[in-house]
Amino acid sequence: MEPTTSDFLLVPSWMKNNQPGLGLRKLDNLEQKKGVKMTTINHPNFGNIAKNQLSRNGKNGNGNGNGKNHDRHEAIKMSVHDLLTNIGEDPEREGLLNTPDRIARMYDELTAGYHVDTEKLINGALFNVDYDEMVIVKDIEFYSLCEHHMLPFFGRAHVAYIPDGKVIGLSKIPRIVEMFARRLQVQERMTKQIADFIKETIQPKGVAVVVEGVHMCSMMRGVKKAEASMITSAYLDQLKNNRDLRTEFIDHINSRRSMD
Ligand code: ZN
Repeated sequence: MEPTTSDFLLVPSWMKNNQPGLGLRKLDNLEQKKGVKMTTINHPNFGNIAKNQLSRNGKNGNGNGNGKNHDRHEAIKMSVHDLLTNIGEDPEREGLLNTPDRIARMYDELTAGYHVDTEKLINGALFNVDYDEMVIVKDIEFYSLCEHHMLPFFGRAHVAYIPDGKVIGLSKIPRIVEMFARRLQVQERMTKQIADFIKETIQPKGVAVVVEGVHMCSMMRGVKKAEASMITSAYLDQLKNNRDLRTEFIDHINSRRSMD
């Protein structure tokens, strides 16, 4: 018998508030468990979501990795729909009709850093090289979201390391920055994570990371300041302990300004 939409309106009571975008497969599993208390969920989009899941499951057999992504996408759409309603908007008006879907897709992109396979990222890009001078990659553009307001902060990252027999492909450094930027972040932690990751991966004699960022949350809200840039840094090992090396790094970063 063809299941109807209403079959999928039952969710365990503890999930009612937390996980409205519950997947079909999950629900099937739960239904098999005895003693799960079920409740109903009322959401304007829920019928459509259940229908989408039905058609997907019809095509693919049962849930898989894509199914999980699909569930997450649908859950974000519903949350945005609610958000629009609660700020006093009409989510059904023409201009907003596709906004939940657009935002769900946008968050996929802006939080892609959570799903990066670090093995793959580094794979084949570590080289044994007899070079022990500082390697500097500067002015790496980044875009992140502050975890307190989910508003953008963005700017430039400057990375240096002193090789200990090993270097990493030049293009990998910006990708490492991006992996940590595309998450909900605070700038201080992002800076430290980039430095720690490089230390762990390349095992150099020293690492330095300086990040300059402007934060929309401090520019748009509260006391509005035109100048809201923030500088954070992380220095490890030789670049922490050796003042000359640190000065060399800072001089390199600053040399950009005289060329501007
Ligand atoms: Zn913020």
